[in-house]
Amino acid sequence: MSHRNVYRITLARSPRGLARHRRRVPAQFQKRHVKRATFRDCGRRCVYCGAFVGFDDATLDHVVPLSRGGDHSPGNLVAACSACNQLKGSQLPLDFFIRHPWAGANFMRYARAVHRGLKRGARRAVSLHFAQAA
Ligand SMILES: [Zn+2]
Repeated sequence: MSHRNVYRITLARSPRGLARHRRRVPAQFQKRHVKRATFRDCGRRCVYCGAFVGFDDATLDHVVPLSRGGDHSPGNLVAACSACNQLKGSQLPLDFFIRHPWAGANFMRYARAVHRGLKRGARRAVSLHFAQAA
């Protein structure tokens, strides 16, 4: 992972950058903008299965589902293929990663722009799974 890449991510997803667009860009395009930034930050992959996906096939996934109190902030959004998105459903990330440790492993690797707490949770869930298996 190059540092130049990381720098670009931070710039494009800063809340201020999004706020600047909010005034004149219609709502539909905003979502597209968020999706594009999220998609790029996740390396054009589904963060759960790690497969490359096309922009139109990718879906925006809320790591902590909206129904469980998650929000629309960029730190809670990842790109996922529709299969993984459906598999995850409205599970909390911890439950999902304990059940599917491969998803947690890929999540740690590819979901670079999410909140640190979410990554920490993923790491805990994956190691918990292996502790139980042993
Ligand atoms: Zn997937």
